[in-house]
Amino acid sequence: MLLGTQKINAQGHLEIGGCDTLALAAEFGTPLYVMDEALVRENCRRFTQVFTDRYPGEVEVSFAGKAFLTMAMVRLVQQEGLALDVASGGELYTALKAGFPAEKILYHGNFKSDEELAMGVAAGVGRFVVDNPYELKRLSELAAAQGKTQAILLRVTPGIDPHTHAKISTGQEDSKFGISVSSGLALATVQEALSLPGIDFKGIHCHIGSQLLDSHTHEDAAEIMVGFVAAIREATGFVCTDLDIGGGLGVRYLPSHNPPSYEEFADSVVSAVVGALEKHALPFPRLMLEPGRALVAEAGTTLYTVGPIKKIELAERTKTFVSVDGGLSDNPRPVMYDARYSVLVAGRAAQATDTTVTVSGKHCETDLLFPELALGEVHSGDILAVQTTGAYNHGMASNYNRFRRPAVVFVHDGQADVVWERESYDDLLRQERLPQRFLEE
Ligand SMILES: *Cc1c(COP(=O)(O)O)cnc(C)c1O
Repeated sequence: MLLGTQKINAQGHLEIGGCDTLALAAEFGTPLYVMDEALVRENCRRFTQVFTDRYPGEVEVSFAGKAFLTMAMVRLVQQEGLALDVASGGELYTALKAGFPAEKILYHGNFKSDEELAMGVAAGVGRFVVDNPYELKRLSELAAAQGKTQAILLRVTPGIDPHTHAKISTGQEDSKFGISVSSGLALATVQEALSLPGIDFKGIHCHIGSQLLDSHTHEDAAEIMVGFVAAIREATGFVCTDLDIGGGLGVRYLPSHNPPSYEEFADSVVSAVVGALEKHALPFPRLMLEPGRALVAEAGTTLYTVGPIKKIELAERTKTFVSVDGGLSDNPRPVMYDARYSVLVAGRAAQATDTTVTVSGKHCETDLLFPELALGEVHSGDILAVQTTGAYNHGMASNYNRFRRPAVVFVHDGQADVVWERESYDDLLRQERLPQRFLEE
């Protein structure tokens, strides 16, 4: 499969954004994260367009920053007119330093510290998405102390199981996130929010899970959420002006993955929301969406250099281990979620994928990146291109084994720009302190 601007050039090399991936590997080294800028921009525009075309009220799409956040990405999101989700003081700081307008920031998370709450209020973030009654009280006190009124959404759990990997299911009744609708706690918390000083309650939010490959769970969630908007009006007379149904749309990691198109997804979500609003005779609230993976995953490719190749003779077959110069430090998803990927040999991108190998990382772990991968001919020194690594790779990277985190380049019209430098060995020592007694011989 070829994604975005990927193509196979006359030399048979994989090209992205008009740049030959072998030339990128030679210039910037490996491992290297390559982002297809044109595809990210197109995704931002199309995702917004499909919803504004269909929904009769106002639409706000915010990019879920945790999927891939660098200052260049923050600037891109702003240029494309999207809002931005942050989920920590660090993400908020990055967004503000990049000049992102605070009023277009939504601040998420199930435990925002007092420091983080105060930082968000002082910066003037557009919405806090409040996760629990404890946070609501702390935020009320901190906002009132700054003489401010903070607009909020309340995160609720609609109580549906999205049938995705357990570690990325977040909308079910026993989720650690949000407040349960069915228990009545969510309604009680809304009533409290409406009465607390320093709090301007706007509406409700849910995020049911990630990498969802059909729209049914989003449709179910939309109906439950609108039903809850109706219940709030019934109990309090208050009509929510914001309705946020989160992110979660899946992407293609493998050719066999077939997520809904943006158009199909918007058709399902908007018809469920509009149908439920009409049923309850509610006005159209601002419809908010928070795609992360769906905007950036397919735009990312990781380049690795192949090192030693081992052939192990087993009774029934030969098993081939191909080692690459990265691993769980630049992509923990295979180890965390059993994630699978599609991989090309960058210099022979059109070759037959008739031999199966196991690709392993170079950490002191059995960090099998891609078990039983149909790759075809491969030699030490080849460059491997792993597709669909634009979400939750750079952001989840670590320095395990004191690896230096890889560089990120944005490619566009034949040009490649570094937006994140590969770490140096000195970067690895930046936090080190040696108290005097460790210096004595
Ligand atoms: C992670 C997250 C998202 C984005 O999820 P994707 O599956 O990447 O689209 C959106 N909203 C919230 C609150 C999240 O935690």
